Amino acid sequence: MDKMEKTLFEKICDKEIPADIVYEDDQIVAFRDIAPKAPTHVLVIPRKAIPRVNEAQPEDQALLGHLMLKAAEVARSLGLGEGGFRLVLNNGADAGETVPHLHCHILGGRKMAWPPG
Ligand code: 5GP
Repeated sequence: MDKMEKTLFEKICDKEIPADIVYEDDQIVAFRDIAPKAPTHVLVIPRKAIPRVNEAQPEDQALLGHLMLKAAEVARSLGLGEGGFRLVLNNGADAGETVPHLHCHILGGRKMAWPPG
C-alpha cells in the first residue's frame, strides 16, 4: 500500500521541520505551539499518525492513555501543576481542528474562560 504523504506533525516527529521539543519518547512528542494561545502552549502528539480522536481504534487505547499521562507530566514539568492547566483535543471542523494529526493542547499560565468559544 502507498504511504500517504506525511502530515506536518509527522515531519516534526521525524525532525524534518524544526520545533521546540520539550519531551519525546518512542510513542509521543511534545513541542511548543508556533502560535501560542496562552503563556504556556504545548502540543502532545502520538508518533502514529491518527488523524483525530474520532478515528482512534481500540488498539490505540494504551497509546492514548500514555499520551494523557505524559501530557500531565509535561504540564507539571513546565510549572503548571499547582496553578492548573487545560488539555484540549479539537476534533473536526466545528471544533477548530486545523492539523489532521491527533494532538492534545496543553494550555496554561493564565486563567481560562469557560465555556470555551
Ligand atoms: P488545531 O487547531 O488543529 O487544534 O491545532 C493545531 C495547532 O498547531 C495550532 O495551535 C497551531 O498554532 C499549531 N501549529 C500549526 N503549524 C505548526 C508548526 O509548524 N509548528 C508548531 N510548533 N505548531 C504549529
